[in-house]
Amino acid sequence: MNGIAEALAVLVEAYRVTDLSEATILTYSRALEKIPTVLLRPMVDRCLETRKHFPRITELRSDAEAVRQQYFQQHPYVSCGDCCGGWLIQEQETEDGFRYGYATRCACHGAYLAKVNALGLGHEPLALMAGDEA
Ligand SMILES: [Zn+2]
Repeated sequence: MNGIAEALAVLVEAYRVTDLSEATILTYSRALEKIPTVLLRPMVDRCLETRKHFPRITELRSDAEAVRQQYFQQHPYVSCGDCCGGWLIQEQETEDGFRYGYATRCACHGAYLAKVNALGLGHEPLALMAGDEA
């Protein structure tokens, strides 16, 4: 799936929609511009598998967020073993003998963030998930 136009074309074809106005297509296109490209295909797949009718924009965003969360579940952060959940605890002592600890981020956590960034999943949720609504 190359992008927004293809995602929309697949949805229109699958749900046999024949009466989308230009304004509606433009509105959907603009909304889908905010979805990370890597999520467009799995978003459409999830929509086709779970929705009986042509989706509203909010439904598409929910589908995109669901597959985004799935990715994080399938690829969780794993500590390198030398740190504590991505944190390294350091200890220092002042000149008058006061010992204190502080935490710094471990390189394994930075490597995980870089991996996630490279996938282009974005940093913000795309929709509130079921149970998150206020
Ligand atoms: Zn580590």
